[in-house]
Amino acid sequence: MSARPKVAFFEFTSCEGCQLTVLDALQDHPELLDAIEIVQFREAMSERGQDYQIAFIEGSCSRPSDEAKLKEIRAQASIVIALGACAHLGGINAIRNRAPLAEVRAYVYGDKAEWFETYPARAISAVIPVDAVLPGCPIDRRELVRAVTHLLQGRLPYIPDQPLCIECKLKENVCVYQRGKVCLGPITLAGCDAICPTYGDGCEGCRGLIAHPNLESLRLVMAEHGVPEAEIEAKMTMFLTNQMEALQEAG
Ligand code: SF4
Ligand code: SF4
Ligand code: SF4
Repeated sequence: MSARPKVAFFEFTSCEGCQLTVLDALQDHPELLDAIEIVQFREAMSERGQDYQIAFIEGSCSRPSDEAKLKEIRAQASIVIALGACAHLGGINAIRNRAPLAEVRAYVYGDKAEWFETYPARAISAVIPVDAVLPGCPIDRRELVRAVTHLLQGRLPYIPDQPLCIECKLKENVCVYQRGKVCLGPITLAGCDAICPTYGDGCEGCRGLIAHPNLESLRLVMAEHGVPEAEIEAKMTMFLTNQMEALQEAG
């Protein structure tokens, strides 16, 4: 890789909030722009450079035509990084996978449903190999800066596999279960500084599951706190639909 690697940003099905967070982070760390060369970033510039070594991809794969574009990016880039929960997990887009596709299409597009191609929303890793992930909805800007630093050092970004509760306890937060709220902290990957519990809300699992989540125990805790079964399912499938399905399939 050259001294100043060429970087491109792409989006698929997403709200572009993760790319906005990249711009935010670059405003705080303009020195990164001296270390990398951004050749394509639709949200920030008009140029469309096709010569890049690192691709950051935001958004889920949600239609057949996305696959060819993803494969094209993979063929060009030495390193592909999934940017945010949509690309990492399918994200909130994957909620729709839980209803029959025909119903979802009719609900969204009405009698124009046939005009728009779509299929179940998936993580980009379902289509192409991904070298690293920056989780979250949106991504954490400090993690992005660390990731770029690691890439410049010739390393892949690394996210420690530990549950959010560890960060939450280090911040000496009162557990939101003590306040009658629901939280996915015990099964969710840490790294966001436990921002939701710190501000009094339960974690929704936007950073995805830790490697070995104890789902049964968490379901029991929720049930003991009187959380209705429907709410448990809604929590577990807000960001985690595809991961839950994969766990079920794995038995
Ligand atoms: S992960 Fe969240 S913030 Fe990022 S693109 Fe998807 S919906 Fe938007
Ligand atoms: S609030 Fe959530 S993250 Fe914090 S300790 Fe309780 S369950 Fe864990
Ligand atoms: S606390 Fe949970 S939902 Fe909130 S940002 Fe962190 S991982 Fe996402």
